[in-house]
Amino acid sequence: MQTIQTIAELIETLALWRRENSGRVLALVPTMGYLHPGHLSLLAAARHRADAVLVSLFVNPRQFNDPEDYRRYPIDLEQDTRLCRDAGVDFLFVPESQEMYPQDAPELQIDIPELTNRLEGLYRPGHMQGVLLICARLFALIRPDLAFFGKKDYQQLVLIQHLVSLLNFPLQIVGCETIRSERGLALSSRNVRLSEKALEHALLIRRSLLILEKEIHEGEKNAATLKEIGKDIMESGSLNRVEYISVASRDRLDELVNLTAGESILVSTAVFTDGVRLIDNIEVTVP
Ligand code: AMP
Repeated sequence: MQTIQTIAELIETLALWRRENSGRVLALVPTMGYLHPGHLSLLAAARHRADAVLVSLFVNPRQFNDPEDYRRYPIDLEQDTRLCRDAGVDFLFVPESQEMYPQDAPELQIDIPELTNRLEGLYRPGHMQGVLLICARLFALIRPDLAFFGKKDYQQLVLIQHLVSLLNFPLQIVGCETIRSERGLALSSRNVRLSEKALEHALLIRRSLLILEKEIHEGEKNAATLKEIGKDIMESGSLNRVEYISVASRDRLDELVNLTAGESILVSTAVFTDGVRLIDNIEVTVP
């Protein structure tokens, strides 16, 4: 595995790889590091589908709306390097912030307001725009054939799919299932900040989503009622800072009022426990 720190080295390395591997498939897996089995599932899927895998590891300051969250974001480059090597990654791109955002360059902004002004974007102003910007830069620089994203960050996945289609990046986006702990908690780099007790409370997130799925399968069609049920379950179990529960269409993330038979929907939520913000979601098809 080759570790690359600068854009110049990245361009040179990929040019060489392309000269020697004409027609071969290159996959990109963008991450912010502190890798866990959720990330590793993306690496495995990429390894399976592509001839070469490039992992980017960059804690992107532009996607943090909370400076404290950025400051506290966990980093372990040594362990990440080992995990990537073990996963058969070919290139590990670990740029400095200055490399991705040169101080003297004019500021570029990318937005798809119809999709960023909702769900996560509503509660984390600027976050989705930061994600769009870094992904667009990585796609333009690396020109991968495939890029892998987790469904845990569902809005991110939908946005990136639209970004690729709106800017005609010649690239296929692959969405991967959420990897969970044995007890159902969606894995996240931020989980290391949770106490034993908070980890226990956090299990209610998945349980509530499963109950909402069951309610929908049993015929509940009113989104407000579903949100109320979800909130009650979480709040009765010590998760008393439910930021939102959303019942939305899956392709455009439009908030729904009533569910229609056959509709593909996404039920998602953001919850605070121990001061850590956790998100999760479930895909449901309305019967
Ligand atoms: P992050 O390092 O948090 O920016 O995540 C990098 C990629 O890994 C994103 O596409 C995430 O959606 C994905 N990811 C994070 N956690 C999980 C998980 N538990 N299961 C599947 N994918 C995940």
